[in-house]
Amino acid sequence: MRYAILSDIHGNLEALTAVLDTLRGMDIDAYACLGDLVGYGADPNETVSRIRGIGGSSVLGNHDAAVIQPAQRTFFNMQARSAVEWTDRELAQEHRDYLAQLPLADRLGSALLVHASPAEPGAWRYITSLMSAALEFSSFDEQLCLVGHSHVPMIVELGRDGPRELFADEVTLAPGARYIINVGSIGQPRDGNPAASFGIVDDEATAVSIVRTEYDVETARRKIIDAGLPRLLGDRLLLGQ
Ligand code: ZN
Repeated sequence: MRYAILSDIHGNLEALTAVLDTLRGMDIDAYACLGDLVGYGADPNETVSRIRGIGGSSVLGNHDAAVIQPAQRTFFNMQARSAVEWTDRELAQEHRDYLAQLPLADRLGSALLVHASPAEPGAWRYITSLMSAALEFSSFDEQLCLVGHSHVPMIVELGRDGPRELFADEVTLAPGARYIINVGSIGQPRDGNPAASFGIVDDEATAVSIVRTEYDVETARRKIIDAGLPRLLGDRLLLGQ
C-alpha cells in the first residue's frame, strides 16, 4: 500500500489542489491527514470539503480544535487568533461537525498518526529538535509515528546507537529501528522553502519520503489579504516562513 500523508493545509486551497494533482500520478492507495485543515488560509470550507471527499483517516489539529472550541485559543498569537476567529465565522456547520468528530490519534497501516506529539496529542507540544523527539519514543509502540504541527519536515530515527536526525527527504525504515517523521506543511511551510510539503509512505518497501510541490503562492497570498485576514499570513507564504 502507498499512502499520501497530508498535514497543516490551513485553508490553502491552491497548495492543496497542486498536491492532489501531483498525487494523481503517484499510484496512491489511501490518504491520511494529520490535522490543521483550517486556520490562516482563505478557503476553509473548500479545504475541508476536499479532504472529506478523498476519504481516509484524519486527526484533529490545534487550529481545528480552536475553531470549534474557543477555549483552545488561549495560547494563540494575535495573527493566529484573528485567523481562527475569521474561520469560526466562515466555516459551514457540516464542516464544523466533521472537525468536531476527529480523533487526536489514529492508525494508518502500522503507523501512528498524531498532529503534535504522541505522548500527549492534545497538549499540542512541538517536536522541533532531536532532544524533543527523543523524549517521545517511549510513549508509543509502533515503529513509525507521523506528525505535523511545526510545519518543518524532520526525520528522527531511534536505532541501537540512540536517536539521530536524518537530513534526507527519503528514508527506508531499518528493522529494529523506530521513527518520528514530520511530513511538513502543505499550506504554510516554515522551513524556508515555499513549496507545499507532504509525505508518501510505502508499506511494502517500508519507505517514507517527503515530497515538495510548487503551487500558485501569489493567488493564495492575495486571497488571504482580500479576505481581510492578517497580511503577514499571506506575505510569509512567499518566503516559506
Ligand atoms: Zn499547523
